[in-house]
Amino acid sequence: MTFEELHIDEKLLEAISYMKFEKASPIQEQAIPLALEGHDVLACAQTGTGKTATFLIPILQDLIQNEAHGLTSLIIVPTRELAIQIDQELQGFSYFTDTTSKAVYGGDKGMDWDEQKRAFTEGTNVIIATPGRLIAHLRLGYVNLRHIRHLVLDEADRMLDMGFIDDIRQILGYIPIKRQTMMFSATMAPEIRKLANTILVNPKMVSIAIAKPAEGVTQSAYMAHPYQKVDLITHILEQNPDYDSILIFTSTKRMIHSIVSAIKKKIRNVTAEGISSDFEQNEREEVLLRFKAKQTKILVATDVLSRGIDIKGINLVINFDVPKDPADYVHRVGRTARADAKGEAVTFISESDILRFKKIEALIERPVNKLPLPAELGEAPVWKDVLPKPQRNHKKRNNHSRHKHFHHGKPKGKGENK
Ligand code: AMP
Repeated sequence: MTFEELHIDEKLLEAISYMKFEKASPIQEQAIPLALEGHDVLACAQTGTGKTATFLIPILQDLIQNEAHGLTSLIIVPTRELAIQIDQELQGFSYFTDTTSKAVYGGDKGMDWDEQKRAFTEGTNVIIATPGRLIAHLRLGYVNLRHIRHLVLDEADRMLDMGFIDDIRQILGYIPIKRQTMMFSATMAPEIRKLANTILVNPKMVSIAIAKPAEGVTQSAYMAHPYQKVDLITHILEQNPDYDSILIFTSTKRMIHSIVSAIKKKIRNVTAEGISSDFEQNEREEVLLRFKAKQTKILVATDVLSRGIDIKGINLVINFDVPKDPADYVHRVGRTARADAKGEAVTFISESDILRFKKIEALIERPVNKLPLPAELGEAPVWKDVLPKPQRNHKKRNNHSRHKHFHHGKPKGKGENK
């Protein structure tokens, strides 16, 4: 479907053509007409599917058609990075219109507060906000959400995971009941449906690729002991000298520094940086900018980046460890092969991560190809198709396991398996 077929305003069509979107993606094709008709929409779609445009285009169409004034549209998101990114995309779409927008998020040292306050008091049309910061402004009394016509909850599953549910409920108390609500989530877990039941009215349900990585991603995995992982990165980079943008994910913030310095030690002249939620906002933006501009070849990140962040041209995503939440795997892997591009995702599985990885394979409904560890890295742990239950056979199995894996600190004894 082309965007012309959506019968949207010329000013939007022109901006869309400048953005080089040629045809609507499946979620856009399904959900935009419903949203344009004014329905509430509940969409199951991961990032990378084009979901941002799915809610921005109908909002902008309405603002143009009705010559909206003041704050009429609120987009609530889990992270500041996502807020900034949505605002940037919105600025693209609204380039030929009078629509104004502002990303409102915490973490800055005061400077931005006044600017955000001004956005509220001067009647900016679209606010893209993280829940905590929005509430902080709301408490000061100058935010007027009484004319909100469009409410979007983006990455609702993530917001629930991050414990924002009470904040969201509080915000809803300030917004008119008569409005259009669009909710996007990568998964449709029961608690998401529950939330949807309370805030959407007769929603149209749209489901795109139920939490599966985009088609263009080649996925593979290596079994590897923790001490083999940095050498494995070196090996992969040697095999792919043309890769210039590599994103490495780890679940733990404290690993970031050691991975970055180990990589720098092993690979001469490589540019590598880390990023996590511990970084100041300015620092985060600068690190991201350098990575986007390809000044930094390797970025090591926690899952803070795995949702929503849209950086084009990432050749390879490496999961240094297996994420705890299978949905995070989809998000991490989704950082490569954005839209129609090709990309590669490689996961390092240590013995203690096998069960987690099986859950991921169940979620994506296919096994991921396990590649043999290069011989020079030594022996890899063995992928076991049937995992022993920790309580059963404990005598033999635990002894064996303690002995074999003592060196890399992962004995899987009885007490550690809770
Ligand atoms: P999203 O899922 O909203 O994070 O979008 C993923 C990426 O795809 C972003 O870079 C969008 O700019 C891009 N994109 C969204 N819709 C289209 C489209 N119809 N054609 C080409 N690129 C698109």
